[in-house]
Amino acid sequence: MIIDGHNDLVLRRYRGEPSPNMDLSAARDADFAGGFFALYIPSPPAAEPSEPPYALPIAEPIPFEEAAQVAEGLYETLLSLPVRRAASVDDFRPGEVTAIVHMEGAEAIAPDLSNLDEWYARGLRSIGPVWSRPNDFAHGVPFEFPASPDTGPGLTDAGRALVAACNRLGILVDLSHLNERGFWDVAEISDAPLVATHSNAHALCPSTRNLTDAQLVAVRDSEGVVGVNFGVSFLRADGARLPEETGLDDIVRHVRYLVGRMGIDHVALGSDFDGATMPAALVGIAGLPLLVEALRAGGLDDAAVAKITHENWLRVLDATWA
Ligand code: ZN
Repeated sequence: MIIDGHNDLVLRRYRGEPSPNMDLSAARDADFAGGFFALYIPSPPAAEPSEPPYALPIAEPIPFEEAAQVAEGLYETLLSLPVRRAASVDDFRPGEVTAIVHMEGAEAIAPDLSNLDEWYARGLRSIGPVWSRPNDFAHGVPFEFPASPDTGPGLTDAGRALVAACNRLGILVDLSHLNERGFWDVAEISDAPLVATHSNAHALCPSTRNLTDAQLVAVRDSEGVVGVNFGVSFLRADGARLPEETGLDDIVRHVRYLVGRMGIDHVALGSDFDGATMPAALVGIAGLPLLVEALRAGGLDDAAVAKITHENWLRVLDATWA
């Protein structure tokens, strides 16, 4: 069984775009049991530079009223998918696809948190306080390469209140798009395991979106988990968007590095399917068995593969949602 830390299928369907990676009809054969389905309020598209430092301009903040309206459409789209919504880890079953309702950026949450309970009742179980643009809760990490994730201030007071409320309700707080200051702010105040749903090792790929060794140690010490992102520009040492020249071995390299830093109990998968450029060898859900093979070929035994593919996610979700 495979549980995954991030996909952007909902946005693709909401926009009426093709879904390059998330072919749900392939799920059963690939043993894909679901994972985090992002509700992401899109910024206007920016041209993605093809040369280093691959820096995108920082996107403009999106006001709450506007974001809340888009989030309604995204949520409706999620409800139209052939998936169940996860309320507990028992909802994950082989042969079915279960969606963790996840907000990537909390723009649709009122700054006074007055609609958070309502979203919890609708099934929301995970929030990344920011995507890579500033909002009322935090300053996100802009995409830069090579660069440190230490790019500016972290959580706002509203962001601290959001983390506390998530702890109280049992909503996972996702660290993946926070900058380093925001990461440490959450680490200081959260009583839940630290989780980065779709990030990699900064030591192997010095993108601002990846985690330093010190951050990895903090995730380990909190009993948390990092989901390895398959996006080629978060895998490659040169940060380049070169799908043909990036292989499954590049994913395995990050898995092995993270296992080396944190131990086998703290590494999982966080594909970024439909949201990032995948290695050409990994077409999407249908290619996941090839990745499992590559993990085995990379020296991971059955017990280790089971932890990485689903057991670590289930442990952390259970501890967070309890
Ligand atoms: Zn993301």
